[in-house]
Amino acid sequence: MYGVVTRNESELAWSEFDTAFFEMKDVTGRATTPVENGVNMVSCFGDNAAVEGDPDLAPVDDTGERATRERRYFDWDYVCPTNETYRDGILEMVADAAAANEDVRLDDVGFPRGEYCHCDRCTRLFEASGHDDRLDWRTEVITEFVAEARDLVPGRLYLTLYPDPYPGHLERRSGIDVDALAAHVDEFVVPVYDMGYTTTYWVETIASGFRDRLSAPFSVELYAIDIDLDNLADAAEVAAAYGERVLFGYQAGNGRAVVRRLRADGQQGVSQGPDDV
Ligand SMILES: [Zn+2]
Repeated sequence: MYGVVTRNESELAWSEFDTAFFEMKDVTGRATTPVENGVNMVSCFGDNAAVEGDPDLAPVDDTGERATRERRYFDWDYVCPTNETYRDGILEMVADAAAANEDVRLDDVGFPRGEYCHCDRCTRLFEASGHDDRLDWRTEVITEFVAEARDLVPGRLYLTLYPDPYPGHLERRSGIDVDALAAHVDEFVVPVYDMGYTTTYWVETIASGFRDRLSAPFSVELYAIDIDLDNLADAAEVAAAYGERVLFGYQAGNGRAVVRRLRADGQQGVSQGPDDV
């Protein structure tokens, strides 16, 4: 199965795609009205506008450094997942999304990196939690957030994962415990982005790692902007061997061209038998 990830409503109905994801709220903080004919995506703890408006929303490490895009390693501003007001706002958005379309996708769930968050509130909550290990406590925070979102979503709940299938890495990085989350999530989405896909062995390595690691189904999302179509088709074939579906990110035209090509190739491959039609 194939799908698209887009900000353009007009592309959601393109017949080549079995599933269409619509960016309802992205990491810049820009949010629009949820759509009915696509799965609305909500960037949960990535939000430049929110942090610009209130710098105290950003998670801090134990030296007080904030997780914002001015720092190395961060491409956007993060919000501390224990901020209740912000979190309630996100859950409200998830509910709005689910009212428009019963399926919802959660993006940017988790803490920014292993060193976060050491804000006063997180320290207080950790100390009151009964956990000895801060990482275990973080995992509980994130799992509870996803469980709350789950209750608001009557249809399929998708959740995006950072593309690192090594055991223990997602837990340490962001408080994501895929085994605990599998109880709430129907399908994970793994973006495996590259600017060219001139080689694809690593797409296979990552996708096969997730196949072994996850107990729930997952899809592979590819970056489709200005990619040579032969290369994108190669990457899509590899991804399709492991993922529930292959999603094309942010250039639907390239995605559509590749889907048409792969389907045409597939039909040629099975056209020998007279009873096949
Ligand atoms: Zn915090």
